[in-house]
Amino acid sequence: PYAAIGVEVNVDYVTAVAVDLAGERLLSWRRSFSGPLPGTDGSTGQAVAAVAAIVRRVVSRMAKQERQVLGLTVGVPGLVGTDGTVLIAPNLGWRDADLAGDLAKALRDPGFAVQVENDANLAALAEHRFGSQAGTANLVYLTGEIGVGAGIILDGRIRRGGRGYGGEIGHIQLDPLGAECRCGRAGCLEAVAGIGAVLRHVPLSPAEVEIELDEVARLARAGDARTLGLLAEVGRQLGKGVAVVANLLNPEVVILGGYYVPLAPWLLPAVEDEARGRTIAPEGGGCRVVASTLGYDAAALGGAARVLDSVDSGRLPRVS
Ligand code: BGC
Ligand code: ZN
Repeated sequence: PYAAIGVEVNVDYVTAVAVDLAGERLLSWRRSFSGPLPGTDGSTGQAVAAVAAIVRRVVSRMAKQERQVLGLTVGVPGLVGTDGTVLIAPNLGWRDADLAGDLAKALRDPGFAVQVENDANLAALAEHRFGSQAGTANLVYLTGEIGVGAGIILDGRIRRGGRGYGGEIGHIQLDPLGAECRCGRAGCLEAVAGIGAVLRHVPLSPAEVEIELDEVARLARAGDARTLGLLAEVGRQLGKGVAVVANLLNPEVVILGGYYVPLAPWLLPAVEDEARGRTIAPEGGGCRVVASTLGYDAAALGGAARVLDSVDSGRLPRVS
């Protein structure tokens, strides 16, 4: 039997998933870091070593099940060109990184292809294939990570644009006077509506993002006025972004993923309200906004799905 591997490298965690040919999860693994991924000072060296170590472990687990690995797709929080190069990953400080090449080298000719793809694109693919909205031809996935990205599926296909750099909704300027963004500009959507905008206001000692979000959700459940006000404000900002998507692409559904999910009960009403008010077509053009049900490994799962697609389309050899 075979296996396909997907990995997501993000700012504060690494996730890995392996699936069989039917897309069933064989394993799923996640490690979060408090603060950015160690060594993400602009060089990819440490990330390459960390991912290579994880991939080796997954491959040996698969070998124990007598499964042959068909390929690996790594999702990254940045712009991935059609040539596979990571042009910019703003929150990691990466530029012009040949992650796929470096990984293949670190894995010493692993015997399977290594591909790199934008994290949001992979998560959108996972939703399209396995999520609650599976099969919806026109959907947009918004990553709720430290950064915000859009994975765009139109007429059933991922849309990347001419050089592969489309979907960068996180860097649309919402507020010229807004907070500084890691891309060097100000008031970008991700700076005012990313999860960092929620956590900046949380009076906690530095801890892992997930733990802090639990605390925010706890305060919201308890009816804490300041927290509810903050979530409504972030929801309104995010709603402006959703309106851009709705006006431009008219998707059937926008899916909020990642760290937005645990906060969805409080974000969604504001997002929907704001998005409808700003979309010229009545009722937001029929666009629904929902929270992802795939959990934190959506992008990794999409990475594995992409391997399966490449095999199906004959781009990757199916070794016997
Ligand atoms: C990056 C996107 C990425 C998003 C989510 C943004 O800062 O520019 O490429 O998809 O973060 O990680
Ligand atoms: Zn930006």
